[in-house]
Amino acid sequence: MTATDTTTNDGTTNDGTTNDPGPIGERDRFDSLDPASGEVVGTHPVHSAADVAAAVARARTAATSWAALDFDGRAPLLRAWKALVTHRADELADLVHAETGKPHGDAMLEIVLAVDHLAWAGGHAEKVLRRRRVSPGLLMANHAATLEYLPLGVIGVIGPWNYPVFTPMGSIAYALAAGNAVVFKPSEHTPGVGEWLAEAAAEAIGIPGLFEVVTGFGATGGALVTARVDKIAFTGSTATAKKIMAAAADTLTPVLIECGGKDAMVVDADADVAAAADAATWGALSNAGQTCVGVERAYVHTDVYDAFVEKVVAQASEVDAGSGPDADIGPITMPGQLEVIRSHIADALARGGRALIGGADAVDDRYARPTVLVDVPEDALANTDETFGPTLTIARVRDMDEAVTKANASRYGLGATVFSKARGPELARRLRSGMTAVNSVISFAGIPSLPFGGVGDSGFGRIHGADGLREFTRAKAVARQRMPAPLNLTTFSRGPRTDRAVKALVGILHGRGPKRA
Ligand code: NAD
Repeated sequence: MTATDTTTNDGTTNDGTTNDPGPIGERDRFDSLDPASGEVVGTHPVHSAADVAAAVARARTAATSWAALDFDGRAPLLRAWKALVTHRADELADLVHAETGKPHGDAMLEIVLAVDHLAWAGGHAEKVLRRRRVSPGLLMANHAATLEYLPLGVIGVIGPWNYPVFTPMGSIAYALAAGNAVVFKPSEHTPGVGEWLAEAAAEAIGIPGLFEVVTGFGATGGALVTARVDKIAFTGSTATAKKIMAAAADTLTPVLIECGGKDAMVVDADADVAAAADAATWGALSNAGQTCVGVERAYVHTDVYDAFVEKVVAQASEVDAGSGPDADIGPITMPGQLEVIRSHIADALARGGRALIGGADAVDDRYARPTVLVDVPEDALANTDETFGPTLTIARVRDMDEAVTKANASRYGLGATVFSKARGPELARRLRSGMTAVNSVISFAGIPSLPFGGVGDSGFGRIHGADGLREFTRAKAVARQRMPAPLNLTTFSRGPRTDRAVKALVGILHGRGPKRA
């Protein structure tokens, strides 16, 4: 917790049954590890349910003063935080590199994007959320109607490890900009990054409790879900999302769910094949494939299939997995994922697929080398389940109708990519996904005004953009009578004359329309 280790646990009350957490003892701590070496990066408290409740209580106090500052008061403080993160970006990137294993340059990339989102959220909150007049309509013309979006209070944010800055900041920055306080539970693989962000916020903003961090495993996240926060913003796996929704139902706590994907790229006959292959290679392999909107499948028009495959294989062969300064991709951050990647490749090969590079021996006990698979059946794991590793399946299709049908035949629907000169926007709209990049890859994530989120097993609700700000608010509607109504409808003194007049008026207003043949 930020500045918190005053709130504590005596090591015997970790079940959350006490209101006094007591001091944190040695056995209530855990290590975050460098996935490249197994060395300890940092040691962090396992926060109990009582610790979480105390953090939420502090955040609730802070939420009141933060909301009272209004947009004018909050915007400069968010700018100060943004500037501090920017100045210390190298230090943060070092920590991201240590906890996830990703190259320093990739860590910087996610920090830059997160800072850009923080700037957008702080800069646009007033415009999107402030009170505005809306039309009362003819029936209620004697009223003034206003709409505004008020903060919810305290937002619980539960994050993953793959983009430990960019991903949770998509909720944290927008929730704070909308006037809420935040209690953040980072992944157990990247607790140090979570603490770093909160410490920077405390230094720049100076409101104790505004951005609290609780660290630990699933139980700590579970405690946050039932701590009566005003909303949970969860990013992680679909399996965990289901548990969180079930737990949140008990307190009717609303949830925003950002889960994984099985994103497809479709490549049309008229596409710039070199650009498409470059995008597919980077989209599939960067961050060692541990990207929720990474490209995992490609459906390529038969006319350009051979050229596309040849270019992807040539480029992917140059991608080195390692931890040195020249490595293009790092280790697999979460050891358990190595077996998932291995099993997807093995299943594809056993079912007639061919590995053009990589394959059965591409996964060792820390790293997965790039694997490009062709001739993989559509119902193989490598095409149906999130692999979250540096793999790509490529399939030949006769036309874009087949490509769209196959791309859409997934229970996930997060991102997608289209390469086509003539039909980009049309194909993009037909793909069942929250976001689609046309003639580029993952570009939507870097455009702060675009909402980000999925459908189906990829989740619901939106971070980023105006929708992302509204996600952390409640719409407040006010109808103010300005003058007595010529037809007063909300009184028992209303008589048949008024009813007749209303009926006539509605007939004039709404009674006309095209007749069905
Ligand atoms: P995960 O579901 O294992 O864990 C996510 C977080 O939930 C962690 O902080 C974990 O401690 C916590 N948690 C675990 N059990 C919990 C419980 N019962 N109650 C409350 N919290 C609990 O996911 P992960 O492995 O950390 O992340 C990888 C997944 O996240 C992938 O599927 C990836 O696609 C997805 N992801 C999605 C997005 C997006 O924006 N849609 C972004 C990044 C990652």
